[in-house]
Amino acid sequence: MNKHDSERIAGLLQQHGMEPVDEVGAADAVIFMTCCVREKADVRLFGQVSSLKTLKKRNRGLPIIAVGGCIGQRDGEKLIEQIPHIDVVFGTHNISSLPELIERAYNESITQVEILDDSVDEFSADLPSVPESSFHAWLPITTGCNNYCTYCVVPYVRGKEKSRMLETIVDDAKQMVDAGVKEITLLGQNVNSYGRDLYGEPRFADLLDKIALGGISRLGFATSHPKDLNDDTIAMMARHDNILDYLHLPVQSGSTAILEAMNRRYSKEQYLELIDRVREVMPGIALSTDIIVGFPGESEDDFEDTLEVVRAAQFSSAFTFIYSPREGTPAATLEGQVPDAVSQRRFERLVDEVQAQALEFSRSLRGTKASVLFEGISKRDENVLVGRDRHNKVVHVVLPEHTSAEQWEGFETEVAITGAHTWYITGELSQTDPEEN
Ligand code: SAH
Ligand code: SF4
Repeated sequence: MNKHDSERIAGLLQQHGMEPVDEVGAADAVIFMTCCVREKADVRLFGQVSSLKTLKKRNRGLPIIAVGGCIGQRDGEKLIEQIPHIDVVFGTHNISSLPELIERAYNESITQVEILDDSVDEFSADLPSVPESSFHAWLPITTGCNNYCTYCVVPYVRGKEKSRMLETIVDDAKQMVDAGVKEITLLGQNVNSYGRDLYGEPRFADLLDKIALGGISRLGFATSHPKDLNDDTIAMMARHDNILDYLHLPVQSGSTAILEAMNRRYSKEQYLELIDRVREVMPGIALSTDIIVGFPGESEDDFEDTLEVVRAAQFSSAFTFIYSPREGTPAATLEGQVPDAVSQRRFERLVDEVQAQALEFSRSLRGTKASVLFEGISKRDENVLVGRDRHNKVVHVVLPEHTSAEQWEGFETEVAITGAHTWYITGELSQTDPEEN
């Protein structure tokens, strides 16, 4: 969501006559979009903002430093007390104020702080945009979250869940298709409850149907909450070939007791039963997940339950986190906080298990033909083209002679999969010239 919001900020600022520069030293303004879901992100902001202090001193107060997103929303004025050389603080509900705030800070040299609550009806998706990619687009369908998982700060900084109108989203998708976008990712903290606030009942399956029929090559979405993923949505995913064969379904923990303490509202058994239902209709689907270790009260047995779920679910990938207490959330004051060393050991064991499953998944793809959308050249090897297949698995192929990465970017074609690694698979292109039909 932050990536998407950053594209909107770029669009908005360019509309106001500002232009991007490559070097921080050449900028009149630097904007930080922040995340506070875990402590690490908080700390990073402080480091990066502090590193601009000398530049600002040397350069008569420039660049203007603006901090927005979740930390801006959470801390407001407090941020200026902590880091006095910040000039502008804005929140998650008033991105559209940013150009004006920057201009005022620039012209009047007075610190500008504007934080609004979620009663504001602003969807960042309605603002102008400068997309990072020409072939992939983020498309927000909801903002905010009503779930209040007990560890999570998102509902406090992003506000209550609000859905955009179905017609608006379908129109946006159409414009993206017309502009040559190949893949759309629908965004929401819990896409499966889309429309509950507007239509009284979730209408995610309906939305998927309408967008899938609109001519996009690939359609994905994140994130799904297991408690709200229903059979209509599963059936809709199976019905449309252009919906990716991939589902991100955060489990968070495999222990029913911990899931209850997290307020996730499903049990270990319900989660496993849900993925069985998904695989019944889409046997080859790639499932990924989010997992937290070291939630307060997590015992060794609870953690074993998590490992058991990972083995049973055979995830193609997983984002793994050590629990990070967030001030103001119910879990932060629970008894039984797990010592760091214990969390760290569990984390390492979890990562080993996740990697073993991911490798297993990669191996299952060897010998198959994958449809790969290419994104560009590898950061490590300029002779390797990188893309993703329809399982959202990263695919590497050798860049064919006499072709350039630009020619392949945004191009989808078939690859015969020959090699399996934990986080990527390798293969051979069926077509070695993107220009040939
Ligand atoms: N709405 C999405 C994403 C929320 S944030 C969802 O529900 O899946 C992304 C991930 O960060 C979460 O899934 C969770 O695994 C992790 N996370 C959130 N708060 C955390 C915390 N306090 N400590 C560690 N991980 C956390
Ligand atoms: Fe946070 Fe839970 Fe909402 Fe996801 S569903 S954003 S984890 S409160």
